[in-house]
Amino acid sequence: TLITNHMPTAELQALDAAHHMHPFTHGHDLERKGARVITRASGVTLTDSEGNEILDAMAGLWCVNIGYGRHELAEAAARQMRELPYYNTFFQTTHVPAIALADKLAELTPYDLNHVFYAGSGSEANDTNIRLVRTYWEQKGKPSKKVIISRKNAYHGSSVGSASLGGMSAMHAQGGLPIPDVHHINQPHWYAEGGDMTPEEFGLARARELEEAIHQIGEDRVAAFIGEPVQGAGGVIVPPSTYWPEIQRICDKYEILLIADEVICGFGRTGQWFASESYGIRPHIMTIAKGLSSGYAPIGGSLVCDEVAEVMNECDFAHGYTYSGHPVSCAVALENLRILQEEGIVERAGRETAPYLKEKWETLADHPLVGEAKIAGLMGSIALTPHKASRAKFAAEAGTAGFICREECFANNLVMRHVGDRMVISPPLIISKPEIDTLIERAGIALDNAY
Ligand code: PLP
Repeated sequence: TLITNHMPTAELQALDAAHHMHPFTHGHDLERKGARVITRASGVTLTDSEGNEILDAMAGLWCVNIGYGRHELAEAAARQMRELPYYNTFFQTTHVPAIALADKLAELTPYDLNHVFYAGSGSEANDTNIRLVRTYWEQKGKPSKKVIISRKNAYHGSSVGSASLGGMSAMHAQGGLPIPDVHHINQPHWYAEGGDMTPEEFGLARARELEEAIHQIGEDRVAAFIGEPVQGAGGVIVPPSTYWPEIQRICDKYEILLIADEVICGFGRTGQWFASESYGIRPHIMTIAKGLSSGYAPIGGSLVCDEVAEVMNECDFAHGYTYSGHPVSCAVALENLRILQEEGIVERAGRETAPYLKEKWETLADHPLVGEAKIAGLMGSIALTPHKASRAKFAAEAGTAGFICREECFANNLVMRHVGDRMVISPPLIISKPEIDTLIERAGIALDNAY
């Protein structure tokens, strides 16, 4: 049978459940209640197979920064597929899309992050980083510097290497992770873990755990520290203002390479091109993906500073992916960056959209179910609680309240994700003020229904 959008939804769902294994999904859930079939999208709106129009407050998976339906990107892909659909960049060959994108990235990114190692995704890019920082120290005559320090509840990807860098215990439990020489310190999550400290005191205390870990492991064994400027998949955890400057100071003092994972934060998400600039982070390496192509084609990369690139150029780095610098993905990313730049989308998001969204989002904190509402540019979170003043957790299994709230949103044609009992948003940067009003209204209804 020919499977098309015109098939009855129930048939599509049955075929899906029978043959398609979904990421981060309990298989039986799909047998009981089929997956919602998304058929098309435009702007911030998804359409499903029943004709419902859904406001996508997650930009897919934090990636469709430019919004859906930009035909220019489809045309860039088609043009590139006709001209040169594939060639590798391994053995003394290159091609124009890879060169042009590398050049554009060097122009757009801050500091001297002038070099890119391409990957197919954020996970692959973070796997590159593991090998890259260890090889860098070997090249510098310090092969014992292997340990990478990360944080609990961080998300750096789903491959074995990147999930080891990540600090998600449920992911470590499946498949025997983490790999050796990865160490996790506590996260700067004041709302959940800050106790009686002020956010500023707590931010400093959590940053200083990096220094303690370096002393404990030994300075001669630590290669790098990796962190998301704002933790995304962990629940949009905006760090206290004291956190990153202290992390930066410690990395400088002990000559630890600093990796900023800007897979979510990069390309406008926090209202600036890169969050490192706004949080006082000067990384040696920056991980990028998602907003780089607005999710229209798979691509990621590691941006590398001059000094690290120089050292790496002294060796034959035995690393790479078939799709490193895929010409179609590079062409799509370039077109995406052209539109983001020429239409001033990032600047408008930072100047107009983010303050409006912040004002509206923070009104949700008045709801009896909401303990805090946080926002950084266009990524936001609310914490669900049975008792605001004490920041208490629900007695039921963690995530139950979030799950109910997410289901209420979905039933009401709004995509919000839940991370435990935190609800998160990350809408396309082009969301309009009336669309923000709709988002807040639907979120409020979902909270009322979940209460
Ligand atoms: N790093 C961060 C901060 C992410 O949020 C993600 C994905 O959500 C990744 C890495 C992994 O990217 P990918 O899913 O493209 O492998």
